[in-house]
Amino acid sequence: MRIILFGPPGVGKGTQAKLLTEEFDSVHISTGDLLREAVKNRTPLGVKAKSYMDAGNLVPDDVMIGLIEEMLNSDRARNSFILDGFPRTVAQAKALDDMFDRMGIKLDGVMSLRVDHEEVVRRLNNRRMCRTCGRIYSLDHLKGKELTQCRNCGGELYHREDDMPDTVKHRLEVYLKQTKPLKDFYRQSGRFIQIDGMQEIGYVHKMILDWIYRNRTQPHIAD
Ligand code: ADP
Ligand code: ZN
Repeated sequence: MRIILFGPPGVGKGTQAKLLTEEFDSVHISTGDLLREAVKNRTPLGVKAKSYMDAGNLVPDDVMIGLIEEMLNSDRARNSFILDGFPRTVAQAKALDDMFDRMGIKLDGVMSLRVDHEEVVRRLNNRRMCRTCGRIYSLDHLKGKELTQCRNCGGELYHREDDMPDTVKHRLEVYLKQTKPLKDFYRQSGRFIQIDGMQEIGYVHKMILDWIYRNRTQPHIAD
């Protein structure tokens, strides 16, 4: 299964990617997670990316394209992946197509999740992330000591700098300007579907699976 999950910040890409990863035993390639890990470990990539991320801007294309190329170099990832957070610009999408051509990879689909902007701001304001294992939570579902401590590993939960309302507003502008145009790019490829991300997690997952199983039996559409 080779899928791109597409959509604005806070739409639920990470959550759906995790569910799909379990379902298909795929490799979850989240550029946000990879970058945050690099920042945490102060690698050259992390040092370069940090200021862009904190400000809610995109990390430069050449850095991101190199990172993805590295990820797709493993056989396991090449065979089955859920791409979450890449591509985010037309230049990244074109570079990805070139990489797929070179590596003989056929994409199964691009799923675009849609959500109201007010809901994005609300979700990200309520999103908490574990400093240790990176798991994400919503204040909507936490109480007592769960509000500060990760259920998975006991690590500390924090509110991401770039999830604060002012930065989220900027990230949404960046999305509209740089990322949203990609929809047309992928719509033309015929493997594109838009899914309502306002629905609850289980329902969105089911809609994605329905689409996958409906399309799996059909031959790939030639590029
Ligand atoms: P979210 O899950 O809220 O959509 P991510 O965790 O995917 O956000 O990304 C966090 C930040 O990492 C982005 O705001 C951006 O600075 C950087 N980033 C992630 N993916 C990319 C990409 N493909 N191109 C450029 N920057 C990226
Ligand atoms: Zn944790």
